[in-house]
Parts: sequence; structure tokens; C-alpha cells
Amino acid sequence: MNDIGLIGLAVMGQNLALNIVRNGYSVSVYNRTAEKTKKFIEERVKGEKITPYYDVQNFVKSLSRPRKIILMVKAGNPVDEIIQELLPYLQEGDLLIDAGNSHYNDTDRRLEKLSHKGILYLGMGVSGGEYGALHGPSIMPGGSLKAYQMVEEMLLKISAKTEDGPCCSYIGDGSAGHFVKMVHNGIEYAIMQSIAEIYDIMRKILGMKSNEIGLIFHQWNEGKLSSFLVEITYKIMQHIDEQTQKPLVELILDKAEQKGTGKWTAQAAFDLGIPTPSLNLAVVARALSHFKKEREILSNLFGEKNRIAGDRSLISDLEKSLELSMFSSFSQGLWLIHEASIAHNYKINLLEILRIWKGGCIIRAKMLDFIKDILKENPQNINLLFSEKAMNFIKDKIKSVIRVTELSRRSGIPTFLLNSTLDYIFSLTESHLPANLIQAQRDFFGAHTFERTDEEGIFHVEWQPLE
Ligand code: NDP
Repeated sequence: MNDIGLIGLAVMGQNLALNIVRNGYSVSVYNRTAEKTKKFIEERVKGEKITPYYDVQNFVKSLSRPRKIILMVKAGNPVDEIIQELLPYLQEGDLLIDAGNSHYNDTDRRLEKLSHKGILYLGMGVSGGEYGALHGPSIMPGGSLKAYQMVEEMLLKISAKTEDGPCCSYIGDGSAGHFVKMVHNGIEYAIMQSIAEIYDIMRKILGMKSNEIGLIFHQWNEGKLSSFLVEITYKIMQHIDEQTQKPLVELILDKAEQKGTGKWTAQAAFDLGIPTPSLNLAVVARALSHFKKEREILSNLFGEKNRIAGDRSLISDLEKSLELSMFSSFSQGLWLIHEASIAHNYKINLLEILRIWKGGCIIRAKMLDFIKDILKENPQNINLLFSEKAMNFIKDKIKSVIRVTELSRRSGIPTFLLNSTLDYIFSLTESHLPANLIQAQRDFFGAHTFERTDEEGIFHVEWQPLE
């Protein structure tokens, strides 16, 4: 009898299986396409206690009870299909763990359905890509505490470790784990977009070569910006294509793909009414990048842009701009998680989220210590801005972001993320927004009513008639 079952042997499943077995557990594996299973066993399993199965029934039979089965398959219908296949062989008290990037609504639906059959279910976010899956990811399990406790010991063992402990913590009830993983990805999109914009300014305004840009990112990675995404940017900039001997990044088509978690984050933010402009615009920027042909035609129609030549003093402004956009992306994401926790009764501990994001995951960053300090000072400060520490940090950076965005505006370089960082902060620190006019317009054409600043109540007036 094996301790754990794992279904889905693409990059994540293979590496996670190896990670689990190296931590002392025996694992049964199954993949829909048998060829992939065979290849995995032949090429990557070197005597570890991993047993391949080529049908679901024998796979399930091979597991000690209560059975614990990790699903690492493509999100969406495949998860339902595999659950359906498993169900005839499962018994009350068995546990299914969906470790893919499932939509949180799907997780709630599956939890509900399986609870009627006495099957326990965890919706578990896993971040860290294939390297993380093998060497220790950040793990975000949600569902019932009882279900979590059945696998807690193993999850703590296989997760990444930092000085603050294993990067795994029970996130909360229901779909809490998948919601938090989704927002993690939304923040990831935003940080990636801000890094890309800064790279664009370095090459277009400062005329820097990829190699030089890499060195700057390397330097930044030694300081306050130390993070996984800054580190890989440095490594990407240094990578030379064997065939052409050019930096590979310069040969990659500028169309960014997406699998959906960034979009879902924006949708959830709209549904909950939480402003996450940077997270939303990171999705917009990827969508826009897809219109390559149109961009080429329009760039000819528009004509040459007058690039302002910047000097190298801009580099420290770029560094501060990345710091502030990273900070504001975390601010927006945490606010969204907090609101979702109330709306869905997840009971999420934000400090724990920050702790487990410190290692293993794609958005791990030194800045999380600073953010944790701000939140520790006042746990009610859910978007981080309500603190002197945060305001001092913002004030120290904001002039740099203004300088950078002004220069990029004048040079015709789009900076969705950097602009949204400014607008997020400027809006939240503005006691008078022009929403009074919007309310008046709504009342004018739709009798939608408005509140007044000088009187309590709900009002509607007969505005001047249309001519
Ligand atoms: P993919 O998302 O590419 O999914 C491929 C796996 O799903 C294969 O094992 C495939 O089996 C299986 N599958 C697809 N359709 C079905 C089906 N109808 N029934 C049964 N199995 C099916 O693999 P990844 O390893 O990239 O990701 C796995 C999960 O982890 C996904 O939810 C993903 O979003 C998430 N994730 C991925 C990360 C990454 O860096 N790649 C990082 C974090 C999470 P077959 O071989 O038969 O086609």
C-alpha cells in the first residue's frame, strides 16, 4: 500500500511526486496518457518508491486508507472528469486534493458535491513552477481543517522553508486556498508587467543593451528589490541564443500568453468592488500585446515616436518605481483577499499568507518582510496604506515614478502598471474625487439619486430639461 496517490504527470505532477517521495512517502502515480507515465518512470524515477498505474481502479486500490489523492491536472473540466472517474472506487473519509489552478467557484462546487458522499476535499494552491514543485513550493491549502490535518505533516515537509518556517499554512474554509493562489497570480502578473515596462524604458529611453539591463537587475536583486522575478529577469537578460549569438529575449515574439488566473483575479475584484487597477491592467496589457499585426500597422500609421533620451540618473528612479509598483500590487492583492475572506467567510490570516509567500513561490520578495511589519503594527491596515511607515515609503518613491512616467509619456512608451500605481495611490490619498459629477450625471439621465455632503438623506432633483 502506498501513502499518497498523484494524478497528472505533466511538469508539476512529475516534480511534486518526486518531492513527496524524497520526503519519505511512497507514491502511486497515474496519468490519462499512459505513454507519459512510462516516460516519467523510465527517465526520472531512479529507484524511488513511485509505483505507476495504468488504470484508475488499481491506482485507487494501491493506496492505504483513508486514501489521499493529489490531482495535478489541467484546470477546468479535466478536474471534474477525473473526479467522476475516481468516485466509484472511493470510500467515505478518503481525501481528494486539487493542487492545480482551479477557479475558486469550481472548488466550492466540487467541495459541496463531494461532501454529500463523505469524500473530503482540499483546494490547494501550489506556487513555484516546476523547480518549486521539486525543491519546495509555497503551498496554499483550503477546505476543512480536518481534511488539511490528514496531510499537514506531508505538506509541511515538501514545502519551501524560510527562517520563518515552512511555506505552507492552512488558509481557510472552502475555496480559500484557490482564491489566495489566484490573487497570488494576479499580483504575479502585475509585478511581471512592471518589470517589463521598466525594461522597455531602459532599452528605449536609455538605449541599454540586454546585457547591461541584466546587470542592473542583478544589482537590484542584491538590495531591497531582491525577489524571484527580479532574479529571473537578470538571468533572462544574460541568456545568449546559441544559434544567433544574440540575447534570446530580443528574439522572443512580444505576445504575452495567459491561462486565466490574472483575469479571474480582476473579475473577482470587480465582483467584490475592490479597486485593483494594477492587477486588472496587467491583464489588459497582455491582451493588448496579442494584437501584433495591428500594432505593426498602427505604428506605421502613427509614425516615428520622439523618444526622449534619458540619462543614467534615471536608473535610480526606475528602481524606486519598481519598488513602489511592487508594493502597490501587494497592497491591492491583500485588500482583495481580505474582502473575499469576509464575503466568503474564509477566515484568512493575512500575516500567514505573507509568511508563506516568503519562500518557494513566484512572488517571493524581500519586500514581504517590510509589508509584514506594516501589517503587524496594525492588522486592520488591510491595504497597507494606513501607516506612517507606508506613507514615508510612498513619499520617498513617488517623485521617481512621476519622473519615469512623464518621460515615458513624452516618448510614447506605454506604462500601464506604473501609471496605475500612481493613480491607485493618488486616488486613495485624495479626499475629493470627481465622483460627485458622476453621481449628478447618473441622477440626470436615470434618476439614480445622490447623497449630499451638507445634508443627510437620498436626493433627486429635476435637472434642466434637454434642449
Ligand atoms: P497542464 O496544466 O498542462 O495539464 C496537463 C495534465 O493534465 C496532464 O497530466 C494531462 O494528461 C492532464 N489532463 C488534461 N486533461 C485531462 C483530462 N480530461 N483527464 C485527465 N487528465 C487530464 O500541466 P501542469 O503540470 O503545467 O499544471 C498542472 C496544474 O497545476 C494546472 O492546473 C496548472 O494550472 C497548475 N500549475 C501549473 C504551474 C506551472 O508552472 N506549470 C504552476 C502552478 C500551478 P495527459 O498527459 O493525458 O494529457
